[in-house]
Amino acid sequence: MTVTVPPTTAATPESAADFIAMDERWSTHNYHPLPVVIAEAEGAWVTDVHGKRYLDFLAGYSALNFGHRHPALVAAAVEQLHKVTLTSRAFHHDQLGLFCRELAELTGTDLVLPMNSGAEAVESAVKVARKWAYRVKGVPENTAEIIVAGSNFHGRTTTIISFSTDEVARADFGPFTPGFKVVKYGDAQALEAAITDRTAAILVEPIQGEAGVLAPPSGYLREVRALCDRNNVLFIADEIQSGLARTGTLFALDAEGVRADLYTLGKALGGGILPVSAVVGRGDVLGVLKPGEHGSTFGGNPLACAVGRAVVKLLATGEFQERSATLGAYLHGRLGELVGRGVAEVRGRGLWAGVEIAPGGPSGRVASEALMERGVLCKETHDTTLRVAPPLVITEAEIDLGVDAIASIVTH
Ligand SMILES: *Cc1c(COP(=O)(O)O)cnc(C)c1O
Repeated sequence: MTVTVPPTTAATPESAADFIAMDERWSTHNYHPLPVVIAEAEGAWVTDVHGKRYLDFLAGYSALNFGHRHPALVAAAVEQLHKVTLTSRAFHHDQLGLFCRELAELTGTDLVLPMNSGAEAVESAVKVARKWAYRVKGVPENTAEIIVAGSNFHGRTTTIISFSTDEVARADFGPFTPGFKVVKYGDAQALEAAITDRTAAILVEPIQGEAGVLAPPSGYLREVRALCDRNNVLFIADEIQSGLARTGTLFALDAEGVRADLYTLGKALGGGILPVSAVVGRGDVLGVLKPGEHGSTFGGNPLACAVGRAVVKLLATGEFQERSATLGAYLHGRLGELVGRGVAEVRGRGLWAGVEIAPGGPSGRVASEALMERGVLCKETHDTTLRVAPPLVITEAEIDLGVDAIASIVTH
């Protein structure tokens, strides 16, 4: 394999082209971003290095649910920056217990295991589920299985891609971690057939984000719960993208009246300021971990906890859940008008939509670039789906602006 490295770049980048050339030259090419270079942001808007403003219709894949630089979140971060930012878990600090208690109370769970990235939260849940299987359920050592859904996205570690069905995410990264079974998303019968005495857990996204904002058939998640109860299997809900008010409720699972045994949280938990993730759930399950068995240098650090506490405080008011529900209905109403006019289908709930571009229309990439030209930023997933996930601080007028831009691009 030959790798071409572009020539070196301007000493002091000024134009967007300079910055892009610099990224291309010095940063590993594991992304293909839109050609916009953001320098500032506030609320639902970002500004590029030339001073052009764009409406953010992606919100950092839901990491920016509260918008850019929400004043309460910035204030919490700044206040903590002046006190203590890192202790490592070798010592106690005065933010960890408060963060864990407040997050547990918000989510109606017993215990919190703080980590940093979403993938680490998923890895942690996998480890906890396996240990629970051996120590509590009585599964023979090293034989535990975890059942996952096809077209899942749970992160990028070696173990997590071991159970991905996306060839691009897997190719050339083997050998893979054993102990996972993949069944079709939304198919409760396939799930039931896959359960054995060695099944530790079922890990699913209540709505699949990367797959294109795919919701399972109604009743499926209740069926998952029932299967878990009947077979003494843990239900792990990956709510890293779907949770924390994105779909109009705290968790996407809440809409079905279903509780999971463990939830993985990330993205918006860090308020768009720093990576904060967690596994939250049953005390008797997370309780299997003992000192030394799992950890993270940065997990649960004072700065992360202070920002996380401010996030929990915003969510505790219910305002963002309410905004997502109300404005989400408006967004889906507006996007629905485009079906048959360049749009084949609109999926999702709350301020979250997968917009399927009709055959004959532009590719998702071309549509995203055209939207960027019109001052709206969102991103395709797969070839034909636009993923729309604006910050929950967006207004109706701004939704109109974004949807009108989408209409002008896909209508043909
Ligand atoms: C983004 C995401 C992850 C991974 O989070 P990272 O912070 O990128 O590691 C895991 N699960 C879901 C559902 C996600 O959307």
